[in-house]
Amino acid sequence: MNSAILRIRGLDAARYGIENLEIPLGQLICFRGGAGSGAQALAHDVLLGESRRRFLRALSPQDRERFGGLGHPVEMEDASGLPPAQSLPGNLLHGRVVDVLHLRSDLARILQTLVQTTCRHCGGECQHLDDDRAVEVVQTHEAITDRCLVIAPLELSEPPTATVYDELVRAGFPRVLIADEVQRIDSDDAKGRRSTLDQLTIHIVIDRLVPATATPARLGEAIRNARAMAHGRVFLKIENNEQDVRWLNRQFSCRACGLSAQQLVWGHWLDEDEASASNQIAGSTLAGRALADLKTSQIGDFDAWLSNLLEDPLPIHCSTSDHTSLIVRARSLLAPAIELGLGKLPLWRQWSHLAFGERLLLSVAAAISQRLSGLLHVVVPPLSGLPAATLSVVMDGLGRLVTQGGTVVFVDADSAVAARAQVVVDLQKVESQEQQPSAKVQRVERDGMLVIRPRSPVADSTPLDPDLRLDLPLGCLICVDGSSGSGKSALLRQLTLGLTGSADCRSDFAIDATGIRRCLHMSDEVLRASQGTLMQLLTLGRDLARLFAATSSAQEHQLRSESFELERPGGRCARCEGVGEIVHRLEYVEDLVVICPDCEGRRFREEVFVATVRGASIGDLMEMTVDEAARFLHREQRPQAILRAAQVDGLASYQLGTPVHRLDRLLILRALLAAHAGRADHRDLFLVERAGAGEDQAGARQVHESLRRLVARGATVVATRAMAVTPDNADWLVSMGPGTGAAGGRIVVSKQVSGPA
Ligand SMILES: [Zn+2]
Ligand SMILES: [Zn+2]
Repeated sequence: MNSAILRIRGLDAARYGIENLEIPLGQLICFRGGAGSGAQALAHDVLLGESRRRFLRALSPQDRERFGGLGHPVEMEDASGLPPAQSLPGNLLHGRVVDVLHLRSDLARILQTLVQTTCRHCGGECQHLDDDRAVEVVQTHEAITDRCLVIAPLELSEPPTATVYDELVRAGFPRVLIADEVQRIDSDDAKGRRSTLDQLTIHIVIDRLVPATATPARLGEAIRNARAMAHGRVFLKIENNEQDVRWLNRQFSCRACGLSAQQLVWGHWLDEDEASASNQIAGSTLAGRALADLKTSQIGDFDAWLSNLLEDPLPIHCSTSDHTSLIVRARSLLAPAIELGLGKLPLWRQWSHLAFGERLLLSVAAAISQRLSGLLHVVVPPLSGLPAATLSVVMDGLGRLVTQGGTVVFVDADSAVAARAQVVVDLQKVESQEQQPSAKVQRVERDGMLVIRPRSPVADSTPLDPDLRLDLPLGCLICVDGSSGSGKSALLRQLTLGLTGSADCRSDFAIDATGIRRCLHMSDEVLRASQGTLMQLLTLGRDLARLFAATSSAQEHQLRSESFELERPGGRCARCEGVGEIVHRLEYVEDLVVICPDCEGRRFREEVFVATVRGASIGDLMEMTVDEAARFLHREQRPQAILRAAQVDGLASYQLGTPVHRLDRLLILRALLAAHAGRADHRDLFLVERAGAGEDQAGARQVHESLRRLVARGATVVATRAMAVTPDNADWLVSMGPGTGAAGGRIVVSKQVSGPA
């Protein structure tokens, strides 16, 4: 039981929803709160951010830059008891399931050890034997009971001189083997000397013994001596049998003829993307299974194969303990994934093709198998959008991390989800504007379809059925339903690739959407929005710049439109480039962020402020909240539409100049949806993953209304099922399944939702 406590004092309550945070470690903890409550910011910026900064501070400045720099420090008085924190799901950009489970190098070693290579010259078995292993093989496995000579095959660059012979004799090796006869070399006219005068290879007798009964120390010394003399090469000449020679080279080589061989580097084969493979692999089997199939196997199958390997007879060169521990370790990495229901997940599937639920479960499984106690696991994406069955498994997995001595923090607004935590930290919504549900939106009916067809040849890289066909109506709200892993996210991803992808990164399907000009995957848009201000998120910059440029004061001072924009040089402060802050990257201590001394945080050069609209400069405008700006700009049509939308979307009390990094992801999504309220039309397709997940009920309703607003302008919205978009409140339902993983990826239902009469 962990009785330590994490304490953080002096936080900005307006931003993080709490001033002093105190949580017991070793528990399952929920930060309860929706958009703007600070719950996400507290988990992401404070817990993950501070832990990351502590880790990075221990690195050199160059390494820090490589990891993306220290980031914005959190203002706080002090923090104690903060353990190293890890984000779940992890944020892997490349890589596959096998990498998340840290299995790749173990698998390479298993193959390296077990797969038998045969000699190209004589067909003998090729092996690599270290000193101890060589002793074990001839003494125990092969148990040679005949008397043997231990021979060092000494290679010379020129025929031996008297000095060479003398040195060998002085070292205690006065005999050589010539044509199966032992000859002495300890005098000038010895037969051994005379017969080897023109030879470049001399077979020196190191010892004469019976391997099965010799002491391991004596046998080992003979092998080591021979190897030292002959560059790692040594063989046993069995007496009474002219043909029988056993090579025991340190290098990978043939046991029968001693020729060195190329060992296939399995790590490279595993790293290759294509299951192309050389002939060597094509024919190889291990435990009854073709190796070429390994790359298509699922987690559960793969584990069964490993278990068969344990029962298979061992190749002679493997020591039982090494082999067993390798396989047992690999199985222990797989076990949590299987227990969390991921047995059907293909081991070589790309991380980027996994559904959110799969990513989360896989990351949890990997964290369980790493057995690192004392970590803080932080789940920032809300869990409430997950199907009930998946949610239960996720909670079980998180519970196991706690049992192993870890601490888990997750963020959600949903009380049912929060109820599964041992400790709930309630975060206050900074702003809670009672929302009026918007008037019944008249849907704009129009022609046009979004058509998805298989492309030939079919690529097999997505979890979707390669033969998937789907026709969707445009200009409506479409809900994609199905259990976690059934292919919902993958479908959205394919739409993005199909409509925006480049030639080398295109969809696996032919996607035709005549009339669609712009396709926006909102998760990508949220991630992209990391800099600038709320004003820029709301895309108000250009409109406001024009407004100011049109004033007489601006014209008088020759200020043009770009003088009022933050995106480009002109009117913005040259020192901070319109950011308002300056970050000093210091060598050994925390980065220092100071308000820009030139503009005092106002982002523009002083002379820009002479231009005023109804008494307010652009600087004044950026200090206005969304509410104030909406009133102030009531005559400007487009800004008005956007600001109204932002007001309704819960951003009313945020200043236009609020830096984006101070908004949580839910608020950023709301701001982006509000921005599109001012310009979306029938040419736009919006893809929204897990719409409204993490919001409370009112918040989810709000997100639904924001999406409806886009549809009312003629746009098409495709959203995966979550709190804001369900089969009941959408216009069209696509149901994916029937199962998950390989049993999913197909369209089960695609139909119009029959609304209430
Ligand atoms: Zn050979
Ligand atoms: Zn400045």
